Formats: sequence, structure tokens, C-alpha cells
Amino acid sequence: MNAPAEAGFDVAIVGGGLVGASLAVRLAGTALRVALIEAATPPASATNWDERCIALNDASHRILSSLGVWPALAADAEAITATHISEKGRFGSTRFTADEAGLAALGYNVPLRAIGAALSQAMANAPDLTVLQPARVTAISESADDVALTVVDGAGERRLRARLVVAADGAQSSIREQLGLIAQTRDYHQHAIVSAVRLSRPHHGMAYERFTPDGPMALIPKPDDAASLVWTVPSERVDDMLAWSDDDYLAAAQATFGGRLGRFTALGARRGWPLARVMSDTLVAGRTVFIGNAAQSLHPVAAQGFNLGLRDVANLAERIVGVGDCGDEVLLRDYAATRRSDRERVSGFTDLLVRAFSNRTPGLAQLRHWGLVAADLMPPVREALLRQHLGHLGLPSDVRGAA
Ligand SMILES: Cc1cc2nc3c(=O)[nH]c(=O)nc-3n(C[C@H](O)[C@H](O)[C@H](O)COP(=O)(O)OP(=O)(O)OC[C@H]3O[C@@H](n4cnc5c(N)ncnc54)[C@H](O)[C@@H]3O)c2cc1C
Repeated sequence: MNAPAEAGFDVAIVGGGLVGASLAVRLAGTALRVALIEAATPPASATNWDERCIALNDASHRILSSLGVWPALAADAEAITATHISEKGRFGSTRFTADEAGLAALGYNVPLRAIGAALSQAMANAPDLTVLQPARVTAISESADDVALTVVDGAGERRLRARLVVAADGAQSSIREQLGLIAQTRDYHQHAIVSAVRLSRPHHGMAYERFTPDGPMALIPKPDDAASLVWTVPSERVDDMLAWSDDDYLAAAQATFGGRLGRFTALGARRGWPLARVMSDTLVAGRTVFIGNAAQSLHPVAAQGFNLGLRDVANLAERIVGVGDCGDEVLLRDYAATRRSDRERVSGFTDLLVRAFSNRTPGLAQLRHWGLVAADLMPPVREALLRQHLGHLGLPSDVRGAA
């Protein structure tokens, strides 16, 4: 066998999901030589991305605008102008509006497929970006000056060297495993069943989060008076519920959600997603940094996973563009330190929501009630929640002004 060719890069991004692809687009056009390695087969039409919708907050809107991909998404995006949070069977609710935030929208609901297609197109338009797909990183070894990656594709095996490896390879990160690093996993024993519903009444841009004893149900506005329905249910019920007829499923969803949006009149395809929280113990190991789901994978109840991953992208890029050695460990540790509070706040809040609202302990019901009252009536609590909702707390300075 011939000796494998070795190519040298500044940054090798392992994983071209939404987060890895966003970083590649962000770094394209800088002086950094960037390679992205993605295991999945590239689709004929750039639409192998799944059918979920992603609720993007205002910070993500700003980041995607700064990447130049927002114009390609705008036609598929539905503005979220208010969010209504309530608990089934109890009084007490709270509502956040774009008006009180002084914005046109709190965020936008966008098909994941559209975000993926826009990022794929932006990568295809970036002449200096090397994309290896389908190709899988199978080994990693670090030396003082760089990291060697073994990459396997249809043509065989090759080696890449990079000053910095960015692991954006998802919750079950193979890079984390190969480096012998640990993640803390909490299985929620819940699945999210995702589908679209058509509504008999206009939603006026209002997103709903309704907590039930079995798990939360979210309705996020889509164009043409439809909504993304994300129904979290105990895992032991998911197979049955996926097998229900559309009519039975719609009737049960309606009974759980209530009549605020009129009748649910039609249902799209359903798919179940197992839900777990996976938190990497470390964000940095030598010249490797973990971002997106590889760093933290969250329950979708607060719609924060990709939003947080995009802030990883924006903050990492701010650190590594224009420096001498983009894989310098001190620089990476500094990055990790700046991400700590955003990451802990968002993951902790998300976990608290899931556990507090999925728990039938009687005392907790009172606490939940007062939590919603406080969120509704106490200005400091409201303001803190609103800022978190918008994602502004983790935005780097170079994006704060762009929109
Ligand atoms: C039901 C549901 C609803 C959600 N809704 C929202 C929402 O409304 N808002 C929001 O912000 N977030 C939401 N999320 C979270 C969001 O989907 C994720 O946070 C985001 O998609 C993670 O992207 P990622 O690129 O980090 O990881 P992934 O999408 O997991 O991508 C990892 C990529 O790495 C590749 N890979 C893995 N190993 C290798 C290897 N060794 N070599 C090469 N490639 C490799 C994989 O093929 C994959 O493409 C939701 C999640 C779920 C489950």
C-alpha cells in the first residue's frame, strides 16, 4: 500500500451537522486553512437533514445573519412574536413578547432542513474550504505542535494534521471516546414526538409551552397557520403513540393542549426522538475543543441545543481568528472559561424545567405555580428569563451589534 498522503490544516472540524457546518461557514474566508470531515453521505439535493423545525432565538438570528446565511432562510422562517408558558390543569401562566424585548421577534421557527441546506450552499461557495464527505475520523493522536487525524473514506485511509481539532461530532462524540474523556449522561426516559399540525385559528406568531404531568408539549408557529408540535411523552408509550391513527393522535394532542388555537385539523409525519442530557466533563483536551452537542446535548423543552451550539461557534471563532496558534491550549482554556456560565445556566435551567414539571410530588406543584407567578409578576425574574430566552447573555462582542 502506498504511504498515505498527509495534508496540513489550521482547523479540522469533525462533524458537519448544523454546528460543525456553521463553524466552517464562519471560518471560511479567514486566513485559517479549514477542513470539515462529515461521515454522512452528501444528499443529492442537500436535504438529508431531518424534518424537525428549530426555534432560533434572537442571538441565533444575529449569528446566522453575521454568517450571511439568513437571507437564504428568511422565506422559510416564521417569526415568534410571543411565548406563552402554562401548566395543564392549573392556573398561572406567563407570557413573553417581542414588544417588551423591543424587537420585531423573539426568534424564528425554521425547518432544520432549510438551515442545513443554506449552510451546505454557503460551504459549497467557499473556495478555500476543504470538505471531506462522506468520510469518518477513526483515530486521533496529539503531539506538541498539532494533532493527527486518521480519516477513512471510499478511497481508503489518509491522515490529516491540524493545529486545532474541533469536535462537533454530536452527543455520542467519537472523538471524546477516542481521547478517553468522560461525559455525564442522564436518560430522561422520555421521547419527543415531533410532527406538524394545521390549525383552525391563526396563531399570530405565538409559541406555546404547556407542561403536563407526563412531559411538556410545545406548539411553535409555522407559516400558513400550521405549527410544529413537539410532544414529550414517557418512553414506554412512544411506540404505541407512533402507531395511532392520525385522527386518534390529533384528538389526544388536542385534549392535552386545549382549545387556544382552535382545532388541530391535519397532521404531518410523526417521528420520535429519545431524550437524554449528555454533558462532556471537559470542553478542551490539549488541541481539541468540543462544541455543540459534542459539548452538551440538552432536552429540547426549552429549544436551546442549537442556539447554545451557535454561541459556541461564535465565541470560538472570535478567539481563534487572527491569532498565531489557533490550537494553543491556553487560548482554548480561556475559550472554555468564557463558555462556562452560559453553558451551565442554559443546561441547568433546561434540566430543572424537565425535572420540576415531570414530577408529581405534591409540594413541587406549588413551587411550579409560584415559579410561573414570579416569572409573570416579578420584574427582575422576568428580565433574567427574557434575556436567557433571547440568548443575549452568551453573545460575543463581534456579533452583538449585527442583525
Ligand atoms: C426533538 C428535538 C427538537 C429540537 N428542537 C430544537 C430547537 O427548537 N432549538 C434548538 O436550538 N435546538 C433544538 N434541538 C437541538 C438541536 O437539534 C441540536 O442541538 C443540534 O442539531 C446539534 O447539532 P450538532 O451539529 O452539534 O450535532 P449533530 O447534529 O449530532 O451532528 C454531528 C455530526 O457529526 C457527524 N459525525 C459523528 N462522528 C463522526 C466522525 N467520527 N467523523 C466524521 N463525522 C462524524 C455525524 O454524522 C453528524 O452529522 C432539538 C433536538 C431535538 C431532539
